[in-house]
Amino acid sequence: MMHAMKSDLTRRQVLAAAPLAASARLDGRPALLGGTPVRQQPFPSWPVFDQREEKALLETLRSGRWYRGSGDHVKQFEEAYARATGARHCLATCNGTSALFVCLNALDVQPGDEVIVPPYTFIATVNVVLRQFALPVFVDTDPETFQMDASKLEAAVSDRTRAIIPVHLGGNVCDLDRILDIARRRNIPVIEDACQAHMAEWKGRKAGTFGAAGCFSFQASKNLNSGEGGAVLTGDGALYERAYAFHNNGSGLKAIGTNFTYSTTGHNLRLTEFQAALLLAQLTRLDGQVRTRSANGAYLTSLLEKIPGIRPAKQYAGCTLNAYHLYMFRYDAREFDGLPRETFLRALRAEGIPAAAGYSPLNTQPFLKNTLNSRGYQRLFPEKILREWPERTACPANDRLCQEAVWLTQNMLLGPRSDMDSIAEAIERIRRHAGELRRLA
Ligand SMILES: *Cc1c(COP(=O)(O)O)cnc(C)c1O
Repeated sequence: MMHAMKSDLTRRQVLAAAPLAASARLDGRPALLGGTPVRQQPFPSWPVFDQREEKALLETLRSGRWYRGSGDHVKQFEEAYARATGARHCLATCNGTSALFVCLNALDVQPGDEVIVPPYTFIATVNVVLRQFALPVFVDTDPETFQMDASKLEAAVSDRTRAIIPVHLGGNVCDLDRILDIARRRNIPVIEDACQAHMAEWKGRKAGTFGAAGCFSFQASKNLNSGEGGAVLTGDGALYERAYAFHNNGSGLKAIGTNFTYSTTGHNLRLTEFQAALLLAQLTRLDGQVRTRSANGAYLTSLLEKIPGIRPAKQYAGCTLNAYHLYMFRYDAREFDGLPRETFLRALRAEGIPAAAGYSPLNTQPFLKNTLNSRGYQRLFPEKILREWPERTACPANDRLCQEAVWLTQNMLLGPRSDMDSIAEAIERIRRHAGELRRLA
């Protein structure tokens, strides 16, 4: 008891002293110009684990039940994740890419179809469309929120459109009301790519439970992590059964462990018992981590929005909880004496703030052009559709966003509030010395 109180007091004293130390450093020169870095301590590391994970993994190992057909961890995780999100059904898959792949197949997206996607996302969102030999049709990004611009969605719909995959990028939530409204009117299923948005909310309900299906990733960088892993949420029982069969070599729920007969084609995209055991342990921490990121993210925005030239990603009014897989803002070099973003990022890193430039535009990746020029695509699509595709899927707002974006990763929001102060302090310091720093470029 005494010890706990003592260390508590010490922590409080340290916190009380922090603002003083911070202001003493305010006149400091940027670390890139030889000054002392704002941060001497690293941000919280990722992943987070302890004896809970050790015990879960060892127990699974010793049980000898390593796959879902012999153990019950995968089933338990599916039930727990469905409960946590309020979804009717959850199907665990071997990764987020396969969760999307399962959904496209369960929704019968076929070669020659079109699927609407954003250009500002991880490549897997687009790759799964190409794996169906379908055509990805890009809708430009709303630079204020970094999400698909719902006002440009309807113009992208054609009579070939078989699915819309909006992404809740960075754990922020896309404009679900507008997207779902258009999809409903045009009778097109929505697959929410919630691979970065575990526990995010739209009007108090969890992201990933609004569309025909929602997809999650548990890859090592994601906010819920088993190294690799994924899940599909759906409220549609028939879709769930088709998804289950597809992820299990075409062998449906009723066929498991029986004779070798199949309802459809499929793959083996099952999650292992080890990953599920790890996820069950990680789930015990998720709510606390979500609260910490959310509070730190909102506080960081209150600091950064006061700095000229820094524009934190906004949320739509319906987003009631941002999961902050990424903390994203736009950097305007004009407010930093013309300091190029690359040098700004280098200067931030020198201050002990690891920051990244984020995605490049997906719609103009050369490999896409090559894919559309391939034998299969030439056979599947009318010449006119392929010819008009580059112009049809041009995304000028996104091109510009990709030049201005800055990302901080989710683990940086898991520490004390004073970590957020240090981020703002480093940016302010760089801004004060932007002219000098520019000469380095
Ligand atoms: C991570 C991610 C995926 C793919 O998930 P994996 O588990 O890596 O296969 C898909 N979409 C988005 C937006 C992601 O961030």
